[in-house]
Amino acid sequence: MTDRELAAAQARLADWRFTPNGSEGFAKAEVTAGGIGTAELSSKTMQARRVPGLYAIGEAVDVTGWLGGYNFQWAWASGAAAGEGFDGVVGVWKTVICN
Ligand SMILES: Cc1cc2nc3c(=O)[nH]c(=O)nc-3n(C[C@H](O)[C@H](O)[C@H](O)COP(=O)(O)OP(=O)(O)OC[C@H]3O[C@@H](n4cnc5c(N)ncnc54)[C@H](O)[C@@H]3O)c2cc1C
Repeated sequence: MTDRELAAAQARLADWRFTPNGSEGFAKAEVTAGGIGTAELSSKTMQARRVPGLYAIGEAVDVTGWLGGYNFQWAWASGAAAGEGFDGVVGVWKTVICN
């Protein structure tokens, strides 16, 4: 193969487009899209801006990572932020939304 042919093959592969013809459904799903918008939550404490005392973390929030540990990391990090951010003002940690 010449360099020119190699470059053309590389370009074709890099621009290879295809449309998935389906998925294996919810039973095989590993992460969900959607949830509570991040703009509705404090990024430091995960507390709802409009509902003091309500916290949302992990899959309940509209954060979706690639497979490979990013979703675990998000679940743990947001949970830690909520735990550390709880200010105790309401006396009881009213609600943590998990799905
Ligand atoms: C098959 C599979 C494979 C995955 N592999 C990966 C991976 O390799 N890497 C990665 O980063 N992510 C992976 N994920 C995604 C990852 O597991 C989730 O993003 C993460 O666990 C979400 O954490 P969470 O705490 O928000 O929710 P969850 O882990 O779903 O925890 C919610 C908890 O709440 C409990 N619960 C629900 N309802 C109630 C109720 N009414 N009262 C009391 N408890 C309740 C549930 O029993 C559960 O224990 C995978 C997911 C699946 C399904």
